[in-house]
Amino acid sequence: VKDSGRAGFRFHQPRKDVDLLARMRLDHAMRQALLERRFRLHFQPQLDLASGQVIGAEALIRWRDPVRGEVPPGEFIPVAEESGFIVAIGDWVLHEAVTQAQAWARQGRRLPVAVNVSALQFQQAQFVDRVRQVLQTAGLPPALLELELTESILLRDADEALRRLQALAELGVCLSIDDFGTGYSSLAYLKRFPIQRLKIDRSFVQGLPDDASDAGIVRAVVQVGRALGLQVIAEGVESEAQRSFLQEAGCHEFQGYLFSAALDAATFEARVWGVERP
Ligand code: C2E
Ligand code: CA
Ligand code: CA
Ligand code: CA
Repeated sequence: VKDSGRAGFRFHQPRKDVDLLARMRLDHAMRQALLERRFRLHFQPQLDLASGQVIGAEALIRWRDPVRGEVPPGEFIPVAEESGFIVAIGDWVLHEAVTQAQAWARQGRRLPVAVNVSALQFQQAQFVDRVRQVLQTAGLPPALLELELTESILLRDADEALRRLQALAELGVCLSIDDFGTGYSSLAYLKRFPIQRLKIDRSFVQGLPDDASDAGIVRAVVQVGRALGLQVIAEGVESEAQRSFLQEAGCHEFQGYLFSAALDAATFEARVWGVERP
């Protein structure tokens, strides 16, 4: 790549190859980061809309690279999904989140922790066994683990997905559909799958309360969720106006900057339980 000044960058290779190289470098750096234990988990509080009580936490991965600085998951997760390394990352996240939930449970703080599951991870033949094994090793009650799945996971091979979901449900973990409304869920699937929770995507919450189509979509999703007996949580809630719209619409729970961004475990504990670590 040659810097040609104000005219912009001129590439000696087609742009795609440059991107490919950048993705390969990032993938390599990720593998190194896992070995060097540079990944961390942060936890974002989830609240009951009516009572304001913290009722759960979503585990979100964080990576600070010595050269690149803080790399957002939106940048490296897609690359890891493409290369397959997401399976290793996802396994680390699962283990780390379950370990933290168990540490809290041991202190009498029984808070469900939600983990994001990628399609490739879910499709691994050993996925259900792995979840069972991680829970058993940690001694965590399965109900304190929630798995966030996306609509694409459920639609790819619906029969196999259904079998896996049933096995996970039998295990006793909680299942939710993340980014709900952005994919192609059909109501028939929702009815078939043993799901407990819908997460309304942030993109629909953003326009609340003024954007008429966002408002309409959010109301409709809440109705669908309630009709199917599911919990409905909204993500990306940043303002009191959004919070009160959601409450009036009948939504049950929310997470978002209005209360807190994702926090490291110690800060989470201080924020949620008012405890300081020695
Ligand atoms: P997501 O699962 O939809 O997670 C919610 C994202 O919204 C998080 O971004 C969170 O920090 C951010 N967020 C929360 N509240 C607000 C808010 O009020 N306003 C705004 N603007 N943003 C808010 P984050 O941590 O950067 O993660 C981005 C995405 O990366 C996640 O979207 C998820 O798809 C993926 N991801 C993060 N951690 C993991 C992980 O451990 N495993 C997998 N497979 N994916 C992950
Ligand atoms: Ca999520
Ligand atoms: Ca989400
Ligand atoms: Ca989202």
